[in-house]
Amino acid sequence: MNADLHCHSTVSDGWLSPTDVVRRAAANGVTLLALTDHDEVSGLDEAAAAARETELELVPGVEISVSFCGETVHIVGLGIDHREARLVAGLAQVRSGRSERAVRMAQALDAVGIRGALEGARALARNPELVSRAHFARHIVASGLMPDVSTVFRHYLAKGKPGYVEHEWARLEDAVGWILGAGGIAVIAHPARYRLSGAEMDSLFDRFIAAGGEAVEVVSGAHTPADVSRFANVARGRGLLASRASDFHGEHESAVDLGRCAPLPPDLTPVWSRLGY
Ligand code: AMP
Ligand code: MN
Ligand code: MN
Ligand code: MN
Repeated sequence: MNADLHCHSTVSDGWLSPTDVVRRAAANGVTLLALTDHDEVSGLDEAAAAARETELELVPGVEISVSFCGETVHIVGLGIDHREARLVAGLAQVRSGRSERAVRMAQALDAVGIRGALEGARALARNPELVSRAHFARHIVASGLMPDVSTVFRHYLAKGKPGYVEHEWARLEDAVGWILGAGGIAVIAHPARYRLSGAEMDSLFDRFIAAGGEAVEVVSGAHTPADVSRFANVARGRGLLASRASDFHGEHESAVDLGRCAPLPPDLTPVWSRLGY
């Protein structure tokens, strides 16, 4: 089994269409793939059609943006019915907040001399409802102001930098509830990325589990080997299922390609056992 249960297409801030994500994953030897676009499920039908032309099995997924203790936390849903009404309505509400945030981000960037960022980011976003900070970063790189996307984040778009604006995403319990209501399994994405204190991290896991969340990304494209050990221990201690995920966005922006993450520590129970694999 080569499972990769978190990646992005042009429906959010990935570089490849849903079809091309599936084809690249299959070529890389992925046998179980979840497409998990930010706050959006409109790529899943195309991905499912592409998967039928390959050996790979597609798991319908989503990555929901949540506000928790002043930090943005991402909750992945796996095995969802992406037509379920409350999930669809919840995601639409989160996306409408994104559009309004993009306007405020562009104003903040304008105030530090970066003009026209809204138009630039919108032109790069294939989905007008899904303008991400990644599109702003790519626009700033394309306009020659900065050498690469990670430099843009460091100077302008990370929390505390001039182009960062506070934003209220979904509530944790709502996001987990939408996923469960759509028959899915909720997963805490890339936990090592969150700047939370030890007590806040404990509270994230407490509230996630109380809401019905069952899994955590132990292996992630965003995790170091030390992060993997740390969250393998959290999975053991809390009896959570473990996920394995590249979080692939594109060849030139992602450290880990589709299906190329480390294996899960062998004593953990993989989340795909709950998906019937
Ligand atoms: P948003 O959901 O619009 O706040 O954008 C978050 C997205 O920006 C993430 O999913 C990544 O695609 C990208 N991103 C966040 N931080 C960085 C970073 N330091 N370097 C490159 N991309 C990043
Ligand atoms: Mn992204
Ligand atoms: Mn994420
Ligand atoms: Mn992601």
